[in-house]
Amino acid sequence: MSAALFEEVFAPFAAELEELAPAGTVVDAHTHLGLDEDGRSLALPDLLAALDQLGAQTRACVFPLHDPERQPAYRLPNDRVLEWARESGGRLYPYCRLDPREEPVEEAKRCLKLGARGIKLHPRAQAFGFGDPAADAIFEVARDAGVPILIHTGRGMGKMDSLAELALRYPEVPLVLAHAAIADMGMFAMRLADHPTVVYDTACFSGVDLVELFARVPAERIVFASDIPYGRTLPSLYLAMRVAAYAGLEERERALVAGGTMSAIVEGRPLAAPTAPRVPQVRPVSGRLTRVSAYVAMALGAMVGAGPPIDPTRGLGALGLARAACRDPDPGSVGAALERIEAALAGAERLISADGDPATLALPLMMTAGTIAATAPIAVP
Ligand SMILES: [Zn+2]
Repeated sequence: MSAALFEEVFAPFAAELEELAPAGTVVDAHTHLGLDEDGRSLALPDLLAALDQLGAQTRACVFPLHDPERQPAYRLPNDRVLEWARESGGRLYPYCRLDPREEPVEEAKRCLKLGARGIKLHPRAQAFGFGDPAADAIFEVARDAGVPILIHTGRGMGKMDSLAELALRYPEVPLVLAHAAIADMGMFAMRLADHPTVVYDTACFSGVDLVELFARVPAERIVFASDIPYGRTLPSLYLAMRVAAYAGLEERERALVAGGTMSAIVEGRPLAAPTAPRVPQVRPVSGRLTRVSAYVAMALGAMVGAGPPIDPTRGLGALGLARAACRDPDPGSVGAALERIEAALAGAERLISADGDPATLALPLMMTAGTIAATAPIAVP
């Protein structure tokens, strides 16, 4: 019942995505398979079904979760991911996940021999720093094998300058900064401005963050990602394509974001030349939409904040304020946007009280509401 309700509420956004999505192969730069300590899991048929929603050709980079059976050295989860990738008929690019304290070089080499196409590092979950010699050793393996490294640069990190320094010592290693590098976006944008192959993945909660990313780094260095099972594929692509359109990208350039750039990285082809960021760093916004953005962020914070597990009921108060901000008898030039946001928020509210899996269904609708609030065209006087 919840899944059907989600589809009904998301239908107009899915229709808009049909218009926004470019021709060409979509590649999801950040997906997981298996089981996480926090209870989340994803099985191969479910990942393939999610990719099918974006087209039968859609591919994904995939790696293990924070698996309870990760010791020693992530061997078992890595072997499972490699096997699932073999079963996927070429649709999945398997990455090996490494624990820098447990023979990371040996494990990386073992997995690369078995077909791994990249390396995933999670400095929070595995509690290590990029000043460690193990980090250098891992970058050396990636350089010699010509494979990318994807690194968690989202929630729960401190300053990440040591990663920027490491990346600059190994400019040949393609680096994927996950979650729009929100952990230290300004620092990465500045210090890695001349890095030839750093890209930022779009798996984040907030349209505001993603708009700002397009203001700080070249569009040719931004790659679509969902972080499924934490994110949902279709709403995540909607977020990326909607912001890309707001940033003024042509279809050919949106195709790079949707999959062109990421497939070049995993296939070892050169990346498109970077251009100046497309969004101005200071920009006019609608006060009405800014209020909605703020309440959507408050609601998401309350839902996610103390988790895992996520508890969407904790965000109901702020969600109500977001809906109230949409109920404006004098909406100015953003009336249509407020109506669409209100529809997404009303759907999220219904899903939170419905049976099923509100955490994975209501949150994408909240994100969708926030995406519109961050990207609705406004009439500038
Ligand atoms: Zn992830």
